[in-house]
Amino acid sequence: MSAAAGSFPHVLVAVPTEVGEGERRVAAVPETVGRLIAAGLSVCVQAGAGDQAAFADTAYAEKGASIDADPVRLLGSADAVLKVAPPTHEEIDRLRPGAALVGFLDPVGHPDRIRLLAQRGVIAFAMELLPRISRAQGMDALSSQAMVAGYRGVLMAADRLPKFFPMSMTAAGTVPPAKVLVLGAGVAGLQAIATARRLGAVVEAYDVRAAAKEEVASLGATFVELPLEAQDGTGGYAREQSEGFLREQRSLIGRHVAASDVVITTAAIPGRPAPVLVTEAMVGGMRPGSVIIDLAAESGGNCELSRPGEDVLYDGVVVTGGRNVASAMPTHASALYARNVANLLLLLVRDGAFAPDYDDEVVAGTCVTRDGDVVHPAARGRA
Ligand code: NAD
Repeated sequence: MSAAAGSFPHVLVAVPTEVGEGERRVAAVPETVGRLIAAGLSVCVQAGAGDQAAFADTAYAEKGASIDADPVRLLGSADAVLKVAPPTHEEIDRLRPGAALVGFLDPVGHPDRIRLLAQRGVIAFAMELLPRISRAQGMDALSSQAMVAGYRGVLMAADRLPKFFPMSMTAAGTVPPAKVLVLGAGVAGLQAIATARRLGAVVEAYDVRAAAKEEVASLGATFVELPLEAQDGTGGYAREQSEGFLREQRSLIGRHVAASDVVITTAAIPGRPAPVLVTEAMVGGMRPGSVIIDLAAESGGNCELSRPGEDVLYDGVVVTGGRNVASAMPTHASALYARNVANLLLLLVRDGAFAPDYDDEVVAGTCVTRDGDVVHPAARGRA
């Protein structure tokens, strides 16, 4: 049942199967479907949408969702569509003008897509743009997925390292613990530190933000002190650093990289390419068998040699570039993401009807297109 753009008497929410290569997540799980239905919405899930994340159609149906095998009908009839990855052009063409779309939209990287959404008359909300304020923490999909990636990154390293992580005292002698260096101690980095510690590694970490020191120490890792000025920006993020700063940082961090069995890099600057922290020469200085996991590979890479989704072997060192790492743990990545998305959607409805308050900081902060226009400043400059 649909009504005019922006006010639906009874919102029909669609959850399509993700079509992107290697995307195994789904934007709603049975638990969140139950919550949306309890809030007065109707939910229709595409047949098989949760299969790769181990959520069966029957589990959605038990929570009250209808199941539709036809993606054209599903998208064409929905008042609100929940997605993980940005929609393809084909998916955008299937959306009903006036429908809402909630998901990762990559508004800065793909202004063309944002323009198409506006032209289609879609009211689009980008999870990347969510203001990171306390009230919105439950909707913060960048954090939930970074947390999954940080955990998974350590498992990827452990799988590639030809050594133990924990110290082992055996009849055949003592095995020393692996030395892990984490560069960038934000959400992903802190989770990587905690995971590497749980596996028994000795962990060091470095970040350019002053607050990171205490957080790293609270997880039982050693903060690498470098004689460099802190690079705090706004909103708890790092500011973009000068090439001179990064050159100095690389020269100071080099000996820590060389002494590590595993380096996990997670350093990022919002809206900018990832800073290069590990050069080819630094990789060459590591012991054969060492492993680098570059979780920033998709945004330019913290290591000069990393390629997203590939293992590059260089002088006996494996350099792995992360690519959609959270999707490799689709059950929990989906469960967390689905809660983020459901929390945002519930902010957009009142009494079962779509009624976004565009004066609300969270609503205004995430909305990229409405009434045929690109309305978000971060996307507008580019679309
Ligand atoms: P991010 O993904 O943008 O960056 C990851 C980390 O890389 C950051 O900690 C950053 O300081 C670091 N970094 C940047 N340049 C670096 C360099 N040259 N060397 C080493 N490290 C470098 O950040 P994030 O993980 O999304 O979050 C960053 C901060 O925001 C954290 O303090 C986090 O706790 C905070 N945060 C707050 C909220 C909230 O209040 N709702 C939500 C999420 C994150």
